[in-house]
Amino acid sequence: MAEVYDVIVIGGGQSGLACAYYLRRTKLNYLILDGQEKCGGAWQKTWDSLRLFSPADQSSLPGWLMPKNEDGFPPKDHVINYLCKYEERYEFPVKRPVKVENIIKESGIFKIKTSTGDFSAKTVISATGTWKAPFIPKIKGIDIFLGKQIHSAHYKNTDELKNKNVLIVGEGNSGAQILAEISKVANTSWATLKDPEYLPDDVDGRVIFNVATAKYKAEKEGKKFNPEAYNLGNIVMVPTVKEARERGVLKTKGSFTELTESGVKWKDGTKEDFDFIIWCTGFHYATNHLENIVKIDDRGKVKTKGTKAQNSPGLWLVGYGGWTGYASATLIGVGRSARATVKEITEYLKE
Ligand code: FAD
Repeated sequence: MAEVYDVIVIGGGQSGLACAYYLRRTKLNYLILDGQEKCGGAWQKTWDSLRLFSPADQSSLPGWLMPKNEDGFPPKDHVINYLCKYEERYEFPVKRPVKVENIIKESGIFKIKTSTGDFSAKTVISATGTWKAPFIPKIKGIDIFLGKQIHSAHYKNTDELKNKNVLIVGEGNSGAQILAEISKVANTSWATLKDPEYLPDDVDGRVIFNVATAKYKAEKEGKKFNPEAYNLGNIVMVPTVKEARERGVLKTKGSFTELTESGVKWKDGTKEDFDFIIWCTGFHYATNHLENIVKIDDRGKVKTKGTKAQNSPGLWLVGYGGWTGYASATLIGVGRSARATVKEITEYLKE
């Protein structure tokens, strides 16, 4: 008979590891299945120059502080290294690469179908993040453009972009940071649906963390949070973005109405040609593997109470964003959701 685990965690990125930290302290029999070849979750996939917004001492998973790095905010390799060492330190049982394809429930047990065979569990924590679900709007002409187009999820560096005409789409942090980098080697234009909004220059990851914490505390105590405080969703003026502003490249051309074979048609009717388009248009939630056991909306979101799926007993979702816990898509924030989740699972299994 195949082993029936108490808990199977799907995803071995920061969220899966935070859950494992609390599971390890219980007597529960658990296993992590991760679709990637290597440890580090989505940080393995991001562009080469990405750095954390948050300083090392405010970017830790439960139990072990991220080591400090010498030079400013931690670069992606520092984060990957930390996640891999975290996994090693606590000797978590992780199997990879194991991609979960779908799940069914039979006689109260989840049957988890994967790329390497079936697994069984009494409960499931889905911690698969967003990186596997890049979102590109279905804009007119998207299939006829003859140049190359990629999502920011697949952007690595400027190697194939030198001297090209490149359109960067999206007014978030990814758009601003990628524009800043590519504009050094290529002719860039920036397309945004609305005017980009920036945080003040002196608001770095540390300030963002402090404001976010104050907001969390105020809301928890039922107090109104100071509405004059910053909108934390605005673009953070990291050094590369500040430098791009000084070069005068941080200027949006507004939005376009359709793609043509050779470029785009701007809202005012003018056309412009591009070799390359980079969609920095965000992500949905990578939850397709749950479609047989719970209702998922078209963005991949599931109805939850805290992290517990509302209509699928035995299923929890951790780390996807505000709907699975305040700041749960951050290194520092996911620990709180993971702890509450493991507590609920322990109680559920006792019943
Ligand atoms: P992921 O890291 O995506 O891990 C999910 C894992 O699940 C992956 O290993 C994946 O392969 C696996 N998986 C997916 N589907 C399956 C499947 N079907 N079967 C098996 N395995 C599967 N956070 C901070 O705290 N500070 C920052 O400064 C910061 N900066 C950021 C900058 C950018 C540009 C972005 C996009 C995010 C940033 N974040 C930051 C947020 C944070 O890093 C991500 O939200 C984080 O990667 C989410 O972790 P996760 O474990 O939930 O998902």
